Amino acid sequence: MTGKIPLAGVIGSPIAHSRLPQIHRHWLKTYGLAGAYIPMDVSSADLREVLTVLPKAGFVGVNITIPHKEAVLEMADVVTDRATLIGAVNTLIFRNDGTIHADNTDGYGFLENLKSGAPDWMPSAGPATVLGAGGAARAVVVSLLDAGVPEVLLTNRTRIRAEKLADDFGNRVTVVDWVHAANILEESALIVNTTSLGMIGKQEMRVPLDGLRSGTVVTDLVYTPLRTNLLVAAEHAGCVTVDGLGMLLHQAVPGFERWFGTRPTVDSATRAAALR
Ligand code: NAP
Repeated sequence: MTGKIPLAGVIGSPIAHSRLPQIHRHWLKTYGLAGAYIPMDVSSADLREVLTVLPKAGFVGVNITIPHKEAVLEMADVVTDRATLIGAVNTLIFRNDGTIHADNTDGYGFLENLKSGAPDWMPSAGPATVLGAGGAARAVVVSLLDAGVPEVLLTNRTRIRAEKLADDFGNRVTVVDWVHAANILEESALIVNTTSLGMIGKQEMRVPLDGLRSGTVVTDLVYTPLRTNLLVAAEHAGCVTVDGLGMLLHQAVPGFERWFGTRPTVDSATRAAALR
């Protein structure tokens, strides 16, 4: 074999659950590209040193996942505006000049998934309700505001976290108390669950869902299970539903393109690879 094989991977802790290796390896195989994608369990104490060493070992970049998404902001040389705004990083590019470029593609992945799963949804259709105000919610809110949603109704169990997020993103974000979350569903054109509620091993969504109305677009970031109780209830109410797996697939596209030089397509084979 001649020449360097580009290496990429995902850094987190724990990392065994990550589906990113299946996704990237599927694309490498599909497009017949030389390259490898490796999951790496790295502690917070070792993170900086690992990021220094990887480019020297042939790595062209990595994905970053929990618990390092915020810490990496300080370790990169160049941070995109959207990663700065979101306050977290999920994709690093190791440049030839030795610098580290950091981006956050979660919001991009969220919006692409929404567009492909609910092609008739228009940002201008009305307010979007966002349940949750954690790291994922920040990426979702940024992308919805960017897309032109007139108002984001943000509700979170811990109100102060929602207020902080609203302060960061201006007057198109309105905080609604968690106990009143059920009341805003009816007026929403889009409902997004960004909490971990409904995920296997976590509590179920307890927000009463009687207010769901036919035609509303409902999407859940949780993808284990694929059909969460929220999505099942939304389907019964005649809503358009979009599951969370596509967000994971779409957010992986920009990194793969930068590292391996081919823009991959998200299709049913990619979904199947992620679910294997
Ligand atoms: P995070 O920063 O830890 O935030 C967790 C959110 O869930 C917070 O809003 C938290 O509310 C809320 N929550 C947790 N337990 C709750 C409960 N018992 N009752 C009410 N609210 C509760 O996590 P994250 O990174 O934002 O991720 C959130 C979810 O999105 C996870 O399930 C993750 O797997 C999923 N996700 C999916 C994708 C994808 O590609 N599909 C991407 C990113 C994340 P408090 O503030 O009150 O604690």
